[in-house]
This record gives sequence, C-alpha cells and structure tokens, in this order.
Amino acid sequence: MSRFRLQPSPAQEQALAEHCGHARFVWNLAVEQHAHWKPGRTSAPGFAEQCRQLTEARAEFEWLRGGSIIVQQQALKDFHQAMANFFGKTHRRPTWRKRGQGEGFRIVAVKPGDVRRLSRNVGEVKIPKVGWVRLRWSRPIPEGVKSYRVTRDRAGRWHVAFTAIPEPVPAPGSGEVVGVDRGVAVSAALSTGELLNAPTLRDTEKERLLTLQRKLARAQRGSNRRSKVKAAIAKLKAREADRRKDWVEKTSTDLARRFDVIAVEDLKIANMTRSAKGTLEAPGRNIRQKAGLNRGILAAGWGQLVARLEQKAPGRVQKIDPRYTSQTCNTCKHLARESRESQALFLCVACGHRANADVNAAKNVRDTAAGHAVAARGGSGFPEPANREPQRDLLLMG
Ligand SMILES: [Zn+2]
Repeated sequence: MSRFRLQPSPAQEQALAEHCGHARFVWNLAVEQHAHWKPGRTSAPGFAEQCRQLTEARAEFEWLRGGSIIVQQQALKDFHQAMANFFGKTHRRPTWRKRGQGEGFRIVAVKPGDVRRLSRNVGEVKIPKVGWVRLRWSRPIPEGVKSYRVTRDRAGRWHVAFTAIPEPVPAPGSGEVVGVDRGVAVSAALSTGELLNAPTLRDTEKERLLTLQRKLARAQRGSNRRSKVKAAIAKLKAREADRRKDWVEKTSTDLARRFDVIAVEDLKIANMTRSAKGTLEAPGRNIRQKAGLNRGILAAGWGQLVARLEQKAPGRVQKIDPRYTSQTCNTCKHLARESRESQALFLCVACGHRANADVNAAKNVRDTAAGHAVAARGGSGFPEPANREPQRDLLLMG
C-alpha cells in the first residue's frame, strides 16, 4: 500500500466528507444489526443480505441514493472483513464509528486511466462523484492499482492509499544471506554490522508533544482549545508515522536489492517467548521505561518492514526461531544468559568475543538461515522462557 497526500479543493473536500459520512452511516447500521444479534436468534444478516437492504435503503432515502454505491457497498464489505477478523481472534469487535474518527472510504474497480500524472510532483485521481482530485506525486505510484482507500486523518489531512502489491525486486544472485534482528536499542541490526534506525520525532518535536499532552490534560472537555491541542498532537503523530512508512519502503527495497536471502526472526515465536530475549531485564529503571515507550513504535515498524520484505522479495524471506539468538555467541556458539552484558553489549563468557548485542544476534539469525545450527553447547545460564517446556527443548538442542 502506498499513501499519497490529496489536495482537494474546498468543494471536493465537502464531497469527500459526504462519502465518509455515507460509509460511516452504513458501517454503523451494520454494527447495530450485529449488536442486536444474540446466540439462539436467527443469524445476523450476512453481506449479501445487507447489500439487498442497502439497495432498499437507497430507494427510500434520497440522500443515500445521491452517494456512491461503491462507497456504501465497500463499507459493508469492510465491516464483514472486520467481523471475520474478530471471529479469527486477531482483532477486536468492530465498533460504532464517530464523526471525525478514522474517517475514510474505499473505491474498487479502478481503471488504468483513473490515476494520472500532471507534472513532476503533481498527479490526480478520479474519485466517483467527486471528479479528479489532485495529489502530491511524492513517489512512484505502483502499476496495476485495483483499489484505493481515501482517508482523513485526525489533523484533517486527506490521503489516498493505492492497493497494489509492489513489484518484486530482482535478487542480486550473489547467494548472500543477511540476518536482520529486531534490536532493542536500534530498530534493526544487520549481520553485516549495520545498525538501522527508523526515524522518530526530533527532540524538539518530542518536547513539543509532551507540552501538548500536558495542555490536553488541563483543557476543558469539549472546549475549542482542547480540539486545537488534539489536532496539533495528531499532526505530530502523523508526521512520525509518515517518516516510519518512508523508512520501511526504503529499507525493504534496499535489503531486497542487496541480498538473495533475508533472514528475520519469526514474530509469532518471538512474541510468545519475549522474555527469552532477556531484553528488558538488564537495564536500569529509566531505560526500561524508555524501552516501554518505544516498544510499540518499534514493533509497528518491524511488522511493516517484514510484511514489505515478503512482497518485495517473495520466497526470499526466511523466518527464524529467535530463541537463543541473543544469548548465543556467534563465534564459539556458547549459550549463556550472562554473555548478554547489557542491552547493547554481548561479551561471551566462554571465549571473550565482544560485539554489539544486536549484531551478534543478527549474525545468529543469518547463520540459522544458512543452515548452521545456532545451538548451544552447555552454558550455565540456560534461558527459561515462560511459555515452553525446557525438557523438550533440551532434547531438541542436543
Ligand atoms: Zn564465544
């Protein structure tokens, strides 16, 4: 998905807001229908039934009929996807949407001519019932766009995100494998020794955010001042998210272009055994708090990076069991929790090998992908993650 800033005229902005209103209305109707459903009753209406009801509602209400059927149908489709995610236990139950929160709509059946470039930095997209809306051509728009989503963020900015799976990046054919470890101190460490940092807010921006958050706490509910402060906070957060997305795009392309195989830790296993990494145990209180603050942001960036890599380097991304990668010496393969001197430093208690802790882990990730076992030979500090059976793992490692 690639996101571009829309620059609608005031009249277009109104038309876009109307689409958002229709999408919200239809979504909320669906939420309401499903809220009344209880076990034992006849089942809540499915997508086809709701589409039929939508047709009826359009016949009845002129204001709804005036809107785009695509926008309204897609809102239903989004709702059913959200319900599927809820039943699949990956997301929470879809809830009522309020005006001004997460506003947006989806357009499908996009034709090749519906997106065009006007000049170096300007393009436009054809939106049903709105017409051609200008957009900032900040990066190439992928070929073969099939659908897009228009959103209005909390700062009042409009964006369009085109859905097209990015073109795979050709492999270099060098046979080279890179290990990428999700760092604690940095966003990602490569087995080449490179440390990558997803951009966050600058110090002055962070200070400003803190000031704004304090102001928000003091501002009266429903006051003008409060909504202004809220908008300013949203703007800063949106800026941070933009920078992170940009970083993810550049980093994933770079890795896909430079290496044949990209080995990353398997997030599912990592999340299960987070404690195994021993990450948040070593540092002092202050660092721990900071890590807590940054964790969510880092985790979000990491998830995006892996997802992008799998699209740009299909079949070339290997997911590695991350257990022990941070506590095993890459040089002598000795496994010991004590070797993790600190958050940043790995100092092998057996051979004295000294390295950046995240780079040492990235090398273990790389070696595992390349077929070398990153298993331990003994070691006193046998790690004991909460969610597994040590005995079984002992056997596996032997
Ligand atoms: Zn060693």
